[in-house]
Amino acid sequence: MAGNPNCGKTTLFNALTGSTAYVGNWPGVTVDKREGTYKRCPEPVSVVDLPGIYSLSPYTPEEVVSRNFILDERPDCVINIVDATNLERNLYLTTQLMEIDVPLVIALNMMDAVEKSGDTIDAKQLEKKMGVPVVEISALKGKGITELMDRAYAVCAERRKGETVLRNSPLAHLIRDVSIALEGQKVAAPLFHAVKLTELDEIECKMHPELVRMVEDFKATFSDDTFGTDFEAIVADARYKYISQNFSVVVTRRKEGKEKLTKSDRIDRVLTHKVWGIPIFLVILFAIFHLTFSENFLYLGSIFRLPSLEDLGLMTADGEYVNFGAQFAAAFYDGAVYSPGVILTNLLALLLDSISALVAGWLSSSPAWVSGFLVDGCLGGLFAVLGFLPQILLLFLFFSILEDTGYMARVAFILDRIFRKFGLSGRAFMPMIMGFGCSLPAMINTRTLADEKERTATIRVIPFFSCGAKLPILTAIAGAVIYQLGAGNADVITYSMYLLGMVTAIVTVILMRSTTMRGDVPPFIMELPAYHLPQFRSLMIHLWDKLKHFVKKAFTIILVSTILVWFLSHFNWAWGYLDDEHMNESILASIGMLIQPLFTPLGFGSQLSQYGWIFAVAAINGLIAKENVVSTFGTIAACLGFTLMDGMDEGVAEAISMMQATGITVPALIAFIAFNMTTIPCFAAVATAKAELPKGKFKWTLLFWLVTSYIVASMIYVIGSWWWTAFIYAAAFAVAIAIIVLWNKRSPAAHKVKKEGEEA
Ligand code: GDP
Ligand code: MG
Repeated sequence: MAGNPNCGKTTLFNALTGSTAYVGNWPGVTVDKREGTYKRCPEPVSVVDLPGIYSLSPYTPEEVVSRNFILDERPDCVINIVDATNLERNLYLTTQLMEIDVPLVIALNMMDAVEKSGDTIDAKQLEKKMGVPVVEISALKGKGITELMDRAYAVCAERRKGETVLRNSPLAHLIRDVSIALEGQKVAAPLFHAVKLTELDEIECKMHPELVRMVEDFKATFSDDTFGTDFEAIVADARYKYISQNFSVVVTRRKEGKEKLTKSDRIDRVLTHKVWGIPIFLVILFAIFHLTFSENFLYLGSIFRLPSLEDLGLMTADGEYVNFGAQFAAAFYDGAVYSPGVILTNLLALLLDSISALVAGWLSSSPAWVSGFLVDGCLGGLFAVLGFLPQILLLFLFFSILEDTGYMARVAFILDRIFRKFGLSGRAFMPMIMGFGCSLPAMINTRTLADEKERTATIRVIPFFSCGAKLPILTAIAGAVIYQLGAGNADVITYSMYLLGMVTAIVTVILMRSTTMRGDVPPFIMELPAYHLPQFRSLMIHLWDKLKHFVKKAFTIILVSTILVWFLSHFNWAWGYLDDEHMNESILASIGMLIQPLFTPLGFGSQLSQYGWIFAVAAINGLIAKENVVSTFGTIAACLGFTLMDGMDEGVAEAISMMQATGITVPALIAFIAFNMTTIPCFAAVATAKAELPKGKFKWTLLFWLVTSYIVASMIYVIGSWWWTAFIYAAAFAVAIAIIVLWNKRSPAAHKVKKEGEEA
């Protein structure tokens, strides 16, 4: 299956194979080919979903994948998916596919949208003009799919000779001669290669250097009125002419007095407004965080004077619920209505609490270390992480909705103007926003960036876009900070931490693009997909994937790490068992104390009292999986026997326990979040970065992450503790910027002087 980006290939692929591949309403979502089986033909058929391409002269790595597959892997048939709402532009690729000697079927997709707009397309006529089967389908509604596959299956048996729309072009002779020469060399798809050679396509010229002469000779004797000797332009022009001649007869536009703005255009007038576009985006982002994290939904609790649970007589003065009903009510309300994200989290906490209590009850007669290991060690750590699942999923759902409606593609477009100032194109926005879900697919998605240096810089900053696994760290500590300060809103703290990550990304990108990663920003051309309502099915697929991934991780990596933490914190080097009181003599404590001084400038090092080593251990454990940071707190806080507060999320309660036991300050806690957010990401992301980065850049990238996190976290701690140090930092930054600016000014000037000298 080949076609333009965003024409519905993956949707069709899912419909055919019953798989649940990622469908996104922006170009460049499928960056690698994907295979599946379609079972309703006379024999099982292998279906391959290729990355979207506009032409067969590729520029980016993902486009090369598509071209090479079609040419080298010799598929039995190519299904060219065409977005019928954009017929003219989509057929450009079709005219190139037609030149290859491979059976071809055109799938006119999105016919539901065409019908809705009132246009009609004469598919029969198109089929006659094109000389290949044309089938009307709607991948989304599942219409016409069986017929498409039946016809595709039928043409597999045929041999089709390539056809070109350049039959009547002045270049026809040249193309035929080159084609015959190629045929003599037994090259497959000679016509296609001949046309590409005529265009002097870069890849083609490397493959057949001996024939380039032939084209060059012809060129010497030839000149076109409009395009001179630019053969690429002549070929492109011939394709467009052919399309407009054949296109005008098959499409009938709905009769309308004047050109009317489509619905998408009207929405875009507001959402991509020059001035309001970006503020609107920030407000939408904040609304999402508010819905997910706020304990004061719509600020109702601040606007109206609402009674607290205690006022209502549901809670006693010392924080005990009068009955289960009261505890249940507390999941929704206490002086303010909670946001949906918090309510779901609270409900899950109720469930997890009762499971813990049940297990503890069963084990009450067993030896202390058995129940300690199972309840505190395993469940404590595991539940601390699982408790955040509702908020992770909700956040993810909101992002999926923004993406599926087509809004995210607009954001890339409105941010392009600003990104350009930082040295990136708007295209880099998509992998970054994917980073909020998980760094792995985000790093892979950078393949849509054509410029290698832009790509390297983007991969490096992706971890700063806080992923789902880091969310528990944010939420747990934000909760603890609010508790410590006695005021504030969790959503504001979480939102600011996300912004902090983004600001770090911006600053480091600017630094990189003006020092080691200098280069021009490639132009950003992207087609904006039409807005549509989010598809329930595709949202559910996204959520289900995320849920599966998270739960699987919780019961494998995180559980194993938790158990390891428990063992290392309950045994000393002589393999003697230590009870909870003596954890400070454990293997883990001694390792933690060894590395602890490293974190002193960040506020969570040697200055903390006895259990301070836990922060060091948690941060290191986070390198395996970021969820481990909170699960480490969970395991250890539970063992230390700190009283967890009732009706509170387990992770938050444990973070509070840690604060009280170690005497850590608020700036140091925030520095701890910042460190974890910007430092080396988890194991899996590191491996992906290594695979995706150009040669020689990986070591520097690791160093970059370490240095950045160290600087950001120490700045927060030091300035947060002694505000006047802000001036010292500002001065240091000013000096650094001055040096870079001067350096950049100097080098071209030096170059110029040298050149003038040479001329003289
Ligand atoms: P790809 O980039 O070619 O793989 O395209 P996707 O399968 O990711 O789909 C892009 C967008 O088009 C998604 O938002 C789909 O929901 C939408 N889409 C796909 N097929 C149809 C269709 O038949 N009708 C309509 N109206 N929308 C479709
Ligand atoms: Mg796709």
